[in-house]
Amino acid sequence: MEVYLQGMGVSPGIAIAPVLHYSRSAFEIPKHAITDVSGELARLDRAVSKVRHELNEIYQKTLDAVGEAHADIFRVHLMILEDVALRDDLAAQMEEEKLNVEFILDSIAKRYTEMMNNIQDQRFRERTADLLDVVDRLQRHLLGSNRPMLRQIPKPSILVARDLTPSDTATLDLDKALGMLVETGSPTSHSAILARALEIPAVIGISVSNKSLSSGSLIILDGTSGVVIINPSAETVEKYQLEQQRLQSVQDHLLQNIQAGPACTADGNPVTLESNIELPLEIKHSLKMNVQGVGLYRTEYLYFNRDTLPSEEEQYQAYAHVAAELSPAPVTLRTMDIGGDKFVKYLQNYNDNNPQLGLRAIRLCLANPDIFKVQLRAMLRASAHGTIQIMFPMISSIEELREAKAVLAKARKELDEEGIPYDPDLKVGSMIEVPSAALQADHMAAECDFFSLGTNDLIQYLLAVDRVNEKIAHLYEPAHPSVIRMIHMVTAAAAAHDIPCSICGEMAGDPFYTELLLGLGVSSLSMASVSIPAIRARISELTLAEARKLAEAILQKATASEVKTLLQSRPGNGREGVDSENT
Ligand code: PEP
Ligand code: MG
Repeated sequence: MEVYLQGMGVSPGIAIAPVLHYSRSAFEIPKHAITDVSGELARLDRAVSKVRHELNEIYQKTLDAVGEAHADIFRVHLMILEDVALRDDLAAQMEEEKLNVEFILDSIAKRYTEMMNNIQDQRFRERTADLLDVVDRLQRHLLGSNRPMLRQIPKPSILVARDLTPSDTATLDLDKALGMLVETGSPTSHSAILARALEIPAVIGISVSNKSLSSGSLIILDGTSGVVIINPSAETVEKYQLEQQRLQSVQDHLLQNIQAGPACTADGNPVTLESNIELPLEIKHSLKMNVQGVGLYRTEYLYFNRDTLPSEEEQYQAYAHVAAELSPAPVTLRTMDIGGDKFVKYLQNYNDNNPQLGLRAIRLCLANPDIFKVQLRAMLRASAHGTIQIMFPMISSIEELREAKAVLAKARKELDEEGIPYDPDLKVGSMIEVPSAALQADHMAAECDFFSLGTNDLIQYLLAVDRVNEKIAHLYEPAHPSVIRMIHMVTAAAAAHDIPCSICGEMAGDPFYTELLLGLGVSSLSMASVSIPAIRARISELTLAEARKLAEAILQKATASEVKTLLQSRPGNGREGVDSENT
């Protein structure tokens, strides 16, 4: 029988495929006596050979997709797999205790982990994670478990998980992960943002322990409406397949109409459209959409799914590549925004009780100025290959902005002394995403070359609503009059100081808000490239004159529902945006 579930759609599109449950939790390890040690060792050898094959394949795939730096980790895993000492240890312990290989492997892994964790050297502790990864793969084969690995999903599926971190999402096997159903999170959690960037339909807020959601059952997932249908009838499948085709043809049509140059309002005012990128493969998407630059490069993704910091050289190569591909269009490199819902184990060996208010983004960088300087040197060096702008995240005071700029000045001085070229006129700006910075936007504007409004965080901090907590997602409200007033305050300060002000939060890619944002004085919009065609089309049917009148009227409204009612009454704006869906 068909079962309908209602969640929140956070990445549009329709997926129809069987369920694949994913969980990061550990295996149940059986313990039983054995008599045939050589038989157990033969089982181990078969598992080793399967894992060897698996790792070689992933190494090659990762190398082709994102390069040696990210692929290298699998070579390390292969070395651990082939470690003779580990096998000898296993054989000796099995001979002595006469217990099954899974149990011995697990106890050896625990012993090694304990030993390595007691060593002060950070590198040893990092190797533990690699060892556990390899042991995990071996156990999966020994136990015949179907627990999936995200990098290598066996067949096209819809991934169902209690939670997925941004780094999990960044490793997804894109050919096989057709959709995502995640219990926790919100439209502006970074996993949802990445799902949109990678064009994977996603729904959040449905309990994954729901009995009908068993592995292998067919489901339909609608990432726009948030509907999930379990065991759909043939008729329902056909209906959604037709809808899938219709959406594809709408997207194809919009793509065909993508022209070079800026978008333009019906009364002839150009609007700059830029893309947000996280992973290198998104550069291709951006170029296809004829963007006029990258308004937000979330560089922290370079720090995910690895065990050590990326070197200056590696970062330089990555940034220079994007700069050269986009040149002469500008690329805005945001310095790493680690913390919040983006955890990087080798930089954060502590637990923040409240990570969104903790040692995140610029705070983490200023607490580690040497690590920060390496990133800034790499960014400066990349500026010799195109047009680079540098932007600081989560600035909350003028002191913080000055401190960040002082580290940048140090990096410039070092490069000058070393005779390494960079663009001396490179622009430096700030994200405005903390209310304290927005309220002081006039002072900030005097010390910045540009602003970029990070509405995802601005809304979170202004309304005191954790952006990754699904239980309060209904309170996360872009149409809140305070949010709109604050955006206006920032655009006005930018205009008074004659600096550009763009928006790179999710509101920028939501056509429901386009007219309002232009009316409020935003001069450019940066978004997931998949949203560009719809926003371009929306801009072409608006006039700036009407948009300004609309903004004036909206600034007088007292409640979010009044704001939304007015927005809904605008021609061509008959639906709510992704941020406020289901609210
Ligand atoms: C924002 O906060 O609006 C933003 C664009 O940055 P991020 O989503 O990476 O926090
Ligand atoms: Mg932010």
